[in-house]
Amino acid sequence: MMRAYLDHNATSPLKPAARQAMLAALEEGGNASSIHSEGRSARNRIEAAREAIAAELGVLTPMVIFTSGGTEANNLALKGLGLDRLIISAIEHPCVREAARASGKPVDLIPVDANGVADLEALKTLLAKPGKALVSLMMANNETGVLQPVAEAAAITHAHGGLLHTDAVQVLGKQPLRFPLIGADLMTLSAHKLGGPLGAGALIIRDGLPLIPLLDGGGQELRRRAGTENAPAIAGFAASLGNLPKEISSLRDNLESLIQAATPAAVFFGKAAPRLSNTTCFALPGLAADTALISLDLDGVSVSSGSACSSGKVGRSHVLAAMGVEENIAKGAIRVSLGWNSSVQDVDQFIAAWKRAATRAKQKAA
Ligand code: PLP
Repeated sequence: MMRAYLDHNATSPLKPAARQAMLAALEEGGNASSIHSEGRSARNRIEAAREAIAAELGVLTPMVIFTSGGTEANNLALKGLGLDRLIISAIEHPCVREAARASGKPVDLIPVDANGVADLEALKTLLAKPGKALVSLMMANNETGVLQPVAEAAAITHAHGGLLHTDAVQVLGKQPLRFPLIGADLMTLSAHKLGGPLGAGALIIRDGLPLIPLLDGGGQELRRRAGTENAPAIAGFAASLGNLPKEISSLRDNLESLIQAATPAAVFFGKAAPRLSNTTCFALPGLAADTALISLDLDGVSVSSGSACSSGKVGRSHVLAAMGVEENIAKGAIRVSLGWNSSVQDVDQFIAAWKRAATRAKQKAA
């Protein structure tokens, strides 16, 4: 059976160009800090990748700090600035929420509305409290795909003397992303969400902003990230750059119409807000997400529950809870996320499998 992999927001399959760049770098080897020829080759690959990523984002090359992925970049941003306090949105990825908690600083949460969009009036109120704040507001939510008003939040934050970090892990590769247009001070990226390798990412930091490293023991990345650079993964990251085709949004919209037609009781989350073109999150009341995921998997379809947590267990989604979705509805939340190799056939296979999952649930209930 052909499988339909529709879980690109969890991780996207490796693009052929990324695989090629990685194989070449693996073959060549070398430590980028070495003076000899192999070392210089690895250094050249890394610096070429840095230039490509800097050009994609419209930044200077020293503003790109390579990390082991989005989780590390978020930790570096939240722990590395030495401000008095943190303000994060209620829908951030667990690696932002938990890094904020672990920083030991006071943390305030920006609420979201029923569509999952951060409340900027609430941000203003939080910024009025004493102490210089780092605000962390993601560009797009991984569960719902809902885009956040980050440029407005950055302007508000700067007017209050604070700094703004944005987790753009779900945006890179899906739509054009230009750091200067957003006005953020720091931005997190991850390679594996757009068809690059797992275990590679970057923190983009405004030129000249001092940063306390998380790791001690090496001068790499202009003393901001110690450890021998993963040249093959970094080369694969740069080779994976490129945005989704425009057709993805009509594929997603068509998928949503077909779901609604097959199961008219289905409820969609965040659909009224501006969203990424590839993501849909929905529930069919009475169909639990874990039951649906197993049924879909048996039919060759890979998707996530709305609350896909790292343990693989289906837990309560803090994102849907923050949007005020009732728990008995939220526990059925399913996320379908398309990507660079998604096709009409994948959508058809999903719909056929979805109909079977809904029928099985109905039969069980009867
Ligand atoms: N931020 C968001 C919004 C994500 O969706 C993810 C992926 O799970 C991460 C951060 C973590 O990135 P990584 O898997 O590269 O550590």
